[in-house]
Amino acid sequence: MTTTTTTTTTTTTTVHHKPGITLTIEQRRAKSREHKFGLCEYCDTGLDLRSDFICHTPTNRGFKLMCNACHEYYNPGRSPNFEF
Ligand SMILES: [Zn+2]
Repeated sequence: MTTTTTTTTTTTTTVHHKPGITLTIEQRRAKSREHKFGLCEYCDTGLDLRSDFICHTPTNRGFKLMCNACHEYYNPGRSPNFEF
């Protein structure tokens, strides 16, 4: 008789998202035309709804659009609306 020890993997994060841009500038430009708000500045996610992203202000000079998944990655547990 074998006793199998099952390792329970507790997944705390529901979103497995890693920021990263894989498209070229031209591909991003083309893709951003298909989305109302363009693309996330940290990955290639297209943004169509205002609730899909936050305005991230890394330098206080202008702002960058950051999708909720990237925001969650960089700021786990923080409300996506804290920037406002
Ligand atoms: Zn993103």
